[in-house]
Amino acid sequence: DARVAKISSLVRTIPDFPEPGVQFRDITPLLADPDGFRETIDVLVGQLPGPIDVVVGIDSRGFLFGAPMALQMDVGFVPVRKPGKLPAPVFEEDYLLEYGSSSLNIHRDALRPGQRVLIVDDLLATGGTLGAAAKLVAREGAEIVHVETVIELAGLGGRKHLGECGVTSYSSIL
Ligand code: IMP
Repeated sequence: DARVAKISSLVRTIPDFPEPGVQFRDITPLLADPDGFRETIDVLVGQLPGPIDVVVGIDSRGFLFGAPMALQMDVGFVPVRKPGKLPAPVFEEDYLLEYGSSSLNIHRDALRPGQRVLIVDDLLATGGTLGAAAKLVAREGAEIVHVETVIELAGLGGRKHLGECGVTSYSSIL
């Protein structure tokens, strides 16, 4: 697929960031290229398995892809944020990082029971981040229809972790 090859060419790998030994996938060249950025949104929307009612994007690179997808599909956008950012009452989920732990929040009134949700982030690694977001969506009583990222680091087994968190449907571009 020519579009996928173009998107792939616009993601660069930066060695030893944010610490020695880590190969960081950097999407900033993709964001800076209007054709590549638009094609990324088109591919992400085009490979959805069914209709959705709302896009949930993860702080912060998930916002960059989730918000334009929501506009293109004419549905609402809901942010999942790092702690201390959302002003109204929240649900909170803790999750494990490679070293230590973190947590994610969602407004308690952000979703309605039964709404069909797509969760979006830039990259799936271990799946801890998307797993926590999936648990937040489940606590709202909404239905996770699909989880999507631009990039999957397949060797880290993130898909398996998502399955353990109740996610049945996942896709990435790269
Ligand atoms: P996970 O929780 O281990 O799946 O890590 C995924 C989260 O870490 C996502 O929110 C990503 O934005 C971020 N992340 C991890 N590695 C990279 C990378 O190489 N490039 C960009 N973001 C990354």
